[in-house]
Amino acid sequence: MSYSNYFNPELETMPREQLRELQLERLQKTVRQCVKAPFYEQKFKEMGISPEDIKSLDDLQKLPFTTKDDLREFYPWGLTAVPLKECVRLHSSSGTTGNPTVVTHTQKDLDEWANAVARCLWMVGCRPEDVFQNSAGYGMFTAGLGFQYGAERVGMLTVPAAAGNTLRQIKFIKDFGTTVVHAIPSYASRIYEVMREQGIDPRKDTRLRVLCIGAEPHSEEQRQRIEENFGVKAYNSYGISEMMGPGVAFECPEQNGNHIWEDYFIVEIIDPVTLQPSKPGEFGELVITTINREAMPLLRYRTRDLTRLLPGECPCGRTHARIDRLRGRSDDMIILKGVNIFPIQIEKILMNFKELSTDYLITLETIEPQGDFMTVEVEVKEFNDDYQQIQGLTREITRQLKDEILITPKVKLVPKGTLAVSDEKKAVRVKDLRKLF
Ligand code: ADP
Ligand code: ZN
Repeated sequence: MSYSNYFNPELETMPREQLRELQLERLQKTVRQCVKAPFYEQKFKEMGISPEDIKSLDDLQKLPFTTKDDLREFYPWGLTAVPLKECVRLHSSSGTTGNPTVVTHTQKDLDEWANAVARCLWMVGCRPEDVFQNSAGYGMFTAGLGFQYGAERVGMLTVPAAAGNTLRQIKFIKDFGTTVVHAIPSYASRIYEVMREQGIDPRKDTRLRVLCIGAEPHSEEQRQRIEENFGVKAYNSYGISEMMGPGVAFECPEQNGNHIWEDYFIVEIIDPVTLQPSKPGEFGELVITTINREAMPLLRYRTRDLTRLLPGECPCGRTHARIDRLRGRSDDMIILKGVNIFPIQIEKILMNFKELSTDYLITLETIEPQGDFMTVEVEVKEFNDDYQQIQGLTREITRQLKDEILITPKVKLVPKGTLAVSDEKKAVRVKDLRKLF
């Protein structure tokens, strides 16, 4: 493939029938490969199955699920299916929810990963003339090196700014004429706020035109706000280190769901309780099987991310399935007084208020004798002491939140900077201080 063209119509618009044939062929190869890893060798023995049992794509159901706990239990090499001397890099999950997990890669794995990221970037209009700045941490976090190699492959001039140091990020954006930035959405909002403090208007004073935002849950409303603030198109990037990192699923110019690359992955949506397939179009847990990986193939990996497959064909012509915007992880769900709530539902409401900034914090506490209680703190762009205005705004936010989540939270408006999110880590939106017993 020439460096200057990462749109591959043969693969990206392949008729689904043909795509399924390709998937079966790659699945069979993957299954033969994965049993070379101690974890799957043991699993296949316990279940009394062998790679030859996979004769059709429906036979996927015979294969075991793989969970994050399996990766932890078999830490560090138990899922690696090639001799370590054939591996050239390992990555490890950022550990937002516990101990890290390890993912190994051969050179071919890294090449395929870079190709996938290049495909995504090309899809959203990145070209060799662009200047691409990556504000993700370089190191174990896959969005650093993952975007780096993909962007280089497209032929863009890359600025590996890495995480943090917002003033320096802004200087680079201005001095180097950055046109594309990759940033976690909470950090993109932070860059914007610091720009405004510096008297910089990104629409006038920079050449920015595309933002790639992902790695953490964000609402459509937050995306729109980022687009308006910067005067750019912001595309949703879904990545997960166990699958490789960024490049797994990305929005196309239609901005309606992320195409998940089915020549790399087989996608299932399951009910996380019964583990049975969800009905078409229903929300459930995203389960992914890698079919294009050597060092560490994963079968039916339970991502714990909640989404659904969007029905119908995408007007862009790509035939690969689209996953809906993530609702969050199954372990993000808040259960309060028996009601299930996702933080993203709260964010969606908050983002509708122009007076509010993008930072918020949900705190859950037990207050005797009333029981469990939710407080939503949110930053106001311009805090003034007009008591009536603050009261009115608080009342309206509370009312809209109650309509959405069915319980009444205590809403607290706080000045900007009070809840400052980290420059380097994914934003923490929920603090659970409840007494469990
Ligand atoms: P960790 O599990 O330690 O956060 P990763 O860096 O592998 O490690 O993070 C992957 C997770 O990040 C996904 O499983 C998902 O929950 C979240 N995530 C990634 N991209 C998105 C996105 N575009 N929208 C919402 N959540 C995302
Ligand atoms: Zn599309």
